[in-house]
Amino acid sequence: MHVHQSPADYGHWRRSLAPGTTVGFVPTMGALHSGHLSLLQQARSQCSVVVASVFVNPTQFDRANDLAAYPRMPEADTALLQEAGCHALLLPTEAGMYPHGTGRLQVHVPGLATVLEGASRPGHFDGVALVVAKLLNIVQPTHLYMGQKDLQQTRVVARMLQELFMPTQLVVCPTLREPDGLAMSSRNLNLTPGHRAQAPVLYQALQAVAKAWQQGSTANEALQQGHAVLATAPPCQTDYLLLVDADSLQPVETNHRPNRVAILVAAFFGQVRLIDNMVLE
Ligand code: AMP
Repeated sequence: MHVHQSPADYGHWRRSLAPGTTVGFVPTMGALHSGHLSLLQQARSQCSVVVASVFVNPTQFDRANDLAAYPRMPEADTALLQEAGCHALLLPTEAGMYPHGTGRLQVHVPGLATVLEGASRPGHFDGVALVVAKLLNIVQPTHLYMGQKDLQQTRVVARMLQELFMPTQLVVCPTLREPDGLAMSSRNLNLTPGHRAQAPVLYQALQAVAKAWQQGSTANEALQQGHAVLATAPPCQTDYLLLVDADSLQPVETNHRPNRVAILVAAFFGQVRLIDNMVLE
């Protein structure tokens, strides 16, 4: 596996690939788990070359303590990626990614970037869109692999790709879960054992909302079922539990039943904020 710290160094390697080579790209913030590796496997099955990046992007964090506490383990990540058959790893520094500082350029996707996670974490998706645009310009992939775990992120990035006429094809991959249903996440590492034991309540709440919605309940009735489940785990401080149109991400109005809905949840366990979602066709 070729490990590149600078975009220029990566560029030399990228230009050495034969024209027409399919390049699958998996951007991550590291502390890799099986969810990340499943993206890599899907990329390997569809592309001739697979590139990953590990970069904890400062511009997408709205809380300084969240950025400081984000788990970092580049050596272990490098070993995992090598073992998983990744061909190249981009491991840039903050100065390498933001040579003129973090406050200059903005990529804002109106509408999609300011609801749900964007409402709770102002500026988060501006940071995501900016860093993904930078990474795509560096990596020059034909395919981009992202997880449905971050559903809203996939929508923001898809819109950015369209609006900026970026030729990369986005592939959205399913969420990998622990045996008890908790969505795999690097942030799970920061949960106390007590909070870890309670965290599967998020998935249970999604399932309760899904069941009620599929049985014909209104959005409000279905969400009440979910809130009742969340209330069984006292450390869980719910930020939001919402049922939205899966395409527009706008809340489902009373008496309206879109073809595809998404249920999204965000909650704190102590200082650790977790998100999860489910899409119903
Ligand atoms: P992160 O390192 O958390 O920024 O995630 C990097 C990529 O991995 C994103 O596209 C995530 O959506 C994806 N991802 C994170 N957790 C999971 C999971 N449990 N299953 C599948 N993909 C995931």
